[in-house]
Amino acid sequence: MEIGEVLITAEDIDAKLTEMGAAITRDYRGKDLLLIGILKGAFVVMADLSRHIDLPVEFDFMAVASYGSATKSSGVVRILKDLDQEIAGRHVLIVEDIVDTGLTLQYLLKNLEVRKPESLALAALLIKDGIDRPPLEVKYEGFHIPPKFVVGYGLDYDGKYRNLPYVAVMDDSE
Ligand code: 5GP
Repeated sequence: MEIGEVLITAEDIDAKLTEMGAAITRDYRGKDLLLIGILKGAFVVMADLSRHIDLPVEFDFMAVASYGSATKSSGVVRILKDLDQEIAGRHVLIVEDIVDTGLTLQYLLKNLEVRKPESLALAALLIKDGIDRPPLEVKYEGFHIPPKFVVGYGLDYDGKYRNLPYVAVMDDSE
């Protein structure tokens, strides 16, 4: 496997995060907003998106692992690190790198709703098209991409490539 075609450039990502950040700033002005990043993949989006949000936001992180192969999600999610704080009564925005099967987010939404936040919404940089997934409302979405395995901008292949400043397809043709 090697890095193939660049799907989304660093410039395009920055422009999109600027728009998403402006929308979040508008929608949550005057509210107390907690951003929750889903590790590890979302650490890059979280850092860059949050700097386009012009509000005194707070941060927390959850780490989850989904059982399955390196490139396929199984929907069975294990919490490796839970939130440090209570979210009852707070406005919560989950920040994700990519929505593929949607199973991780479906699980997380269910898990977090039980904790009674004042509101719970989703932001995701990438959404894979052509995937049969449970209904999920992604309030702030970045780019729709084809259902291919991608790396970069937080996303890994075998633990690597998270630091690429762009999103690229992994090429399995030798
Ligand atoms: P889902 O539960 O929506 O299928 O995907 C959950 C997680 O699988 C994502 O947060 C991401 O970490 C990983 N994932 C899904 N699609 C891709 C992909 O194309 N590339 C990489 N590197 N990870 C992915």
